Amino acid sequence: MSDSSDFKPLPRKSKTPPRKRQTVGADTPSAARRTPRSRAAPSEDKARAPRSRRARPPAQKNRFGWLKYVAFLMMVSVGVFVVANMQPAPSAAPPPPAYTPDPEATLVPTQAPFFAIPHIFELPTNTPTPIPTPSVPDAAIVAGHWAVEGAARVPDVPDSGAICPDGTREVDITKSVADKTLSLLQRRGYRAELLQEFDPVYQDVNPTFAPRAFLSIHVDSCLQGPDYAYATGYKIAHAEPSDNQIQDDRLVTCLTRSYDKVASKYDKPFNYNTITRNMTEYHAFRKIDPTTPAAIIELGFLGQDYDFLLQHQDEIAQGLARGLDDFLKGQTCVPPTVTPQPTATAAP
Ligand SMILES: [Zn+2]
Repeated sequence: MSDSSDFKPLPRKSKTPPRKRQTVGADTPSAARRTPRSRAAPSEDKARAPRSRRARPPAQKNRFGWLKYVAFLMMVSVGVFVVANMQPAPSAAPPPPAYTPDPEATLVPTQAPFFAIPHIFELPTNTPTPIPTPSVPDAAIVAGHWAVEGAARVPDVPDSGAICPDGTREVDITKSVADKTLSLLQRRGYRAELLQEFDPVYQDVNPTFAPRAFLSIHVDSCLQGPDYAYATGYKIAHAEPSDNQIQDDRLVTCLTRSYDKVASKYDKPFNYNTITRNMTEYHAFRKIDPTTPAAIIELGFLGQDYDFLLQHQDEIAQGLARGLDDFLKGQTCVPPTVTPQPTATAAP
């Protein structure tokens, strides 16, 4: 029994060195093996490694994981922006070679921006407010007493001017001469405008109609006989008082010099004695821009200048058109030999 006791327990128990070494290993030189490094040896980590991988990495990687979505969105948006900019811009057709710009046309900016800017980023732009620009013809010519039949905005003009016993009307002569004068001016390249006696362009309050020259054409009465020997010839006048004396005088002088060449040819003098307030206070003078050079002419007396007024309208129109042409060209018109005196008033 003792043998048996001597035999086995000690050596056999001591034959399990790994267990003893493990418990005592901390003090033995083999402790170096049990450093954390040795624990990390593949043989021992085989079972634990999956646990630690599952627990730790997700917490660290997700911290900035959302950045990749942001980057992706940015790339997509940049791509869309580039594609949008590559779309062909609306091509403006080049103007035809014979294109002449309309002087009355309103200028509108048509240049498209280089980049296609979304509406979200557009800043409030200075959109040009439509300003009513008054039309400015070179010459406006009133056909005395003329009115378009049925014109809604033109009040009825009961007065057709002088009417002679044979039915000849003043308005027929003024309209005919005005038409001829107009076409002559237009043939010379002027923008001429025909107006009615009470034209819609007129404004009684703050008048803005301002042609470069304004002329109203009328014809005087049908007076005949020995008592009315004075009732012959023409006369030209401007407003009295004038708001633009120099230009008004120059317009009257240019018209007088030119028209007198025609009238004197048929012995029709400048009849300044018969200039009345009907001329110097002509209603349209107060309905256009006060600074507009404006004049009114009585081509002659329908009674005693009848043949001249009806048979020489082409020459009459040429005289008027030439006078307006001289004025519009800025000429300093020299008065004819008989200097008109527009301010003089006389006979009824
Ligand atoms: Zn008249």
